[in-house]
Amino acid sequence: MQPTILLFDVDGTLLSAAGAGRRALERAFEAHCGTAASLRDVRFNGMTDPGIVRAGLEQLGRLAGPALVAAILDDYVPLLADELTRAAGFQVFAGVTSLLEGLATSDHVAVGLGTGNLRAGARLKLEHAGLERYFAFGGFGSDHEHRAELLRIGASRGAASLGCTTDDCRVVVIGDTPHDVAAARAIGAASLGVGTGGCAPDLMRAAGATWACDDLAAPGLLDLLCEGGNT
Ligand SMILES: [Mg+2]
Repeated sequence: MQPTILLFDVDGTLLSAAGAGRRALERAFEAHCGTAASLRDVRFNGMTDPGIVRAGLEQLGRLAGPALVAAILDDYVPLLADELTRAAGFQVFAGVTSLLEGLATSDHVAVGLGTGNLRAGARLKLEHAGLERYFAFGGFGSDHEHRAELLRIGASRGAASLGCTTDDCRVVVIGDTPHDVAAARAIGAASLGVGTGGCAPDLMRAAGATWACDDLAAPGLLDLLCEGGNT
């Protein structure tokens, strides 16, 4: 069976952090810039954490230099831990845990992350959800500001974990926004769009998703992700 690398997005795909990420980033941003108003106009869905901070700084008319972006993101991580302790609406979406359990038994499948979260931020969210043990590697917002590039990095780590090269592998990106789909296409990966982040499956298909479903409880997904197929 062809080696397969799965790259799961986090927010809107595996879980909802109920706004904890946004609140933490706004607090870090405000500490450095005196206001977080410019960040409130930035859509977070499908963006990387460095990309969100850069957009907020540019809206504010500030130079988005790498040192300032890094300083805000460094402060964001402990604030995220704090916000998660009172994120009352935090939830893991339907089907996620049983799908990950099923995937964990497939030797030819490497299960990783492809997320705009910083590596440290993704770890905090997944620990809070009890899902961290399912993901041995990933591509993160801390690896690259652009989604296609962080997916490329995640795919190469997944291939290394399988003892082969990316060219030998089938790569599937699982995400909740057209940004995930576009980035998957940019690296030649297949994509599964899920509706749990608020973007309907039809819109994900229109954006070019290989497959789309309402949530990760949809029937047949384990076979689809392990073996490919047409459903
Ligand atoms: Mg997402």
